[in-house]
This record gives sequence, structure tokens and C-alpha cells, in this order.
Amino acid sequence: MLERDLVIPCTVVGLLQLREQMPTILVTGGSGFIGSHTCISLLSCGYDVIIFDNHSNSKVFPSLEVASFLSINNPDRIKIIHGDICKPDDIEHVFLASEKIDAVIHFAGLKSIPESFKNPSKYWSTNVAGTINILNCMAKYSCENIIFSSSATIYGGGQGKQISESDLINPTSPYGWTKFISEKIIHDQHKAAKESANSCDETSKTINAIILRYFNPVGAIKNGIIGESPLLSATNLFPTIMKVINGEDSQLNIFGNDWPTIDGTGVRDYIHVMDLAEGHVAAINYLLATPNCFIELNLGTGVGYSVLQVINTFEQIVGHVIPHTFHARRDGDVASCVADSSLARKILKWKAKRELSEMCFDSWNYWSKYLGSNL
Ligand code: NAD
Ligand code: UDP
Repeated sequence: MLERDLVIPCTVVGLLQLREQMPTILVTGGSGFIGSHTCISLLSCGYDVIIFDNHSNSKVFPSLEVASFLSINNPDRIKIIHGDICKPDDIEHVFLASEKIDAVIHFAGLKSIPESFKNPSKYWSTNVAGTINILNCMAKYSCENIIFSSSATIYGGGQGKQISESDLINPTSPYGWTKFISEKIIHDQHKAAKESANSCDETSKTINAIILRYFNPVGAIKNGIIGESPLLSATNLFPTIMKVINGEDSQLNIFGNDWPTIDGTGVRDYIHVMDLAEGHVAAINYLLATPNCFIELNLGTGVGYSVLQVINTFEQIVGHVIPHTFHARRDGDVASCVADSSLARKILKWKAKRELSEMCFDSWNYWSKYLGSNL
């Protein structure tokens, strides 16, 4: 019996199953938080998966426990290749070793806003040069489809309104800029290929792309066999709250109580990672069925919660107070960042379904199991 998290609407996949072989998806960064959940969703919808990861921020996925869980499918349908997106030869090795790669989901990269202020060139070389390396290899091996992990941070906040894809782009950190510039490079490649195809240039290489701008991914798969467990020190709210709940940290530092929001603390659109994973499956289904595609889509819930509201929800779940103190605003932060995801709903027929309480519960459930069993 599949758990609810694995029952994913697969309308287009239903059609694809008529093909002799299901498409193979190369998932860069597939051992990481969002990548590993997306791999489970892809596998359960019948896609074959190749994970490419340097494991700088993750353990090898799947672990033994996950592999046996996935044996409800066929374990041969997942391959794991250790490599670095900054090394073109590593990427080329994946394409040479694989019969056919139908699409790439490009998650691999660095994601800490505070760290990107301290070491910007590391962020530019991994996130931007790494993306160029992937695109070059895709062109060389005639792989035409890419989904790129972008971020709501490129908007620079929404002044209390829901943010739509056509709103002002205004990154407030080096990390945000690396995401926006990577988007721009992918768009330029798409346009160049389209123009040379129109002029009947036989050397043209098509690039179809969906840019997914995530809001704040949190939570874990319901059975807690995977979740967010970064190897590098995490700076996001949920893993930081977990450290306080587990006694690793004595209190949560809240960055700013003077923002123009409901209670003065920052407001974000938290989205359950399984909703996000399902969004990727919907995007792959759409991309593989739509020639000449370039779309930018927000993936969020459309509802914002403040830091204090998140703390309060966790307190109800764990049954005790989460100590916290207020501090100065953090560099690169914005007051509020909430998605208008109506375009994703219209195009992908996808909608986030899980509530904040489920996100908090599933995060806590994973962390209790993770710490308990030392997975
Ligand atoms: P993560 O760190 O858990 O996953 C990223 C994976 O990429 C890790 O497994 C890491 O080992 C791998 N990686 C890093 N550098 C690499 C390299 N040079 N070569 C190969 N692999 C490398 O992060 P995540 O939360 O799963 O985020 C995935 C993507 O989504 C990232 O691109 C991130 O910028 C983007 N994103 C994340 C969030 C978020 O809050 N988690 C929000 C918006 C966008
Ligand atoms: N935040 C906080 N303390 C922390 C981590 C985060 O007060 O230790 C706040 C942060 O200022 C923001 C919200 O929590 O208002 C979400 O931060 P996160 O880093 O998770 O996401 P992002 O800022 O990238 O949207």
C-alpha cells in the first residue's frame, strides 16, 4: 500500500506509459533536500532517475532504508553518480554512461544567503558556471529539456502583496543574483536556439525550459525516511527551530521584530516539500509534452506566515515553549515574500495542498526519527 505522499496525480504520465521505455531524468543535486523528495515522486510516477551529486551538502541518496522502501518499484531504475557540476568532465561522464537522458532537473548548487555575502565568488562559480557546464553538455549530447531550481529570493520581497512572475526582479543577495543570472542564461539559450531553428540552421540546439521559482520549501515525506538534513550548517528557519526543539541550540534568534508585517517578524510562503516534488513531476510531464517551451513559474501556497506564527505552530505540536529572542534584521532579508501561484495552477494543473501544521509536523517527525536512528 502506497502512502499518501506517493500517490501523485500522473495524468500525462499515464499517456507516457504507452511508450516502450519511460523517460530518464538526470537530477543534479538529487541527494539533497528537494532533490531526494522529487526523485521519490518521479520514481513513483514511473520515471527512471539518474542522480548526479558531489554530496557536499547531503549523504548519498537513497540510503539502505530508502532503497528497500523503493523496492516497491524497481531499484534498477535509480542510478547514483558522484560528481561535480563545476567539472565539465564529470558531467560529460554521465551523458556518456547513459543511453538516453530525456530531461535534466538542475537542483545542484549552493543556497545560503548569508554565506553568499561572505563568499560570493564561490556562489557565482558553482551556481552560474555550474549551470553553464550543464547547458553545454546538454547541447553536446542533444538533451533538450531542463527544469531549473530558481528562488523567490530573486524578487526581493513583495511589499505585502502576492508576487507574480511578471513582478519586479530585484535580488538582495549574491545568491539571489546567481539564480537570476542562471535563469537569464537559460532564457538566452532558448531564444538563440529558437531563432536559428527559424532560419533553418541545422546546427541549432533546442532548449526547452521551465524555471521554477520556489518560495520556502519545508517539511518531509510523511513516513520520515528522508527530510532536510544538510551537512553544512543550515541558516533557514525550520532546521534552526529543529535545533532548538532538540536541545542542540538553547534558543532561536529571530532576525527583526520591526518589519511592516502582522507581528513585526518576517513573513514567508512555506511550501511542503512533497507539494514541491509533485510540482516538479507536473512540470516534467508538461515539458516533455510541449515543444518550444520556456516558462517561469512560482511554486508556493499563496499564504504567508510570520516567524512567530511558525514558532507557535511548532509549540502546539511539540507541547512546549520554544525559547526565542529578537535580534537585528539579517542582511538580504525582506519583510514579506508570498507567491501568486495561479500561473502554475493554470499551466501545470498543480496546486499546493498541505497546510503549515502538516509541514511542521512532518519536519518534526523526520527530525525525531533522524536523530533517534542516526540515519
Ligand atoms: P540541498 O543543499 O539540500 O541540495 C543541493 C544538492 O546539490 C546537495 O545534495 C549538494 O550536495 C549538491 N551540490 C552542491 N554543490 C554541488 C556541485 N558543485 N556539484 C554537484 N552537486 C552539488 O538544497 P535544496 O534545499 O535541496 O535546494 C535545491 C535547489 O533549490 C538549490 O539550487 C537551491 O538554490 C534551490 N532553492 C532552494 C530553496 C530552499 O529553501 N531549500 C529555495 C529556493 C530555491
Ligand atoms: N529567520 C529567523 N531566524 C533564523 C532563521 C530565519 O528569524 O534563525 C527568519 C528570517 O529572517 C525570515 C524567515 O525566518 O524572516 C525565513 O527565513 P529563511 O532563511 O528560512 O528563508 P528566506 O529568508 O531565505 O526566505
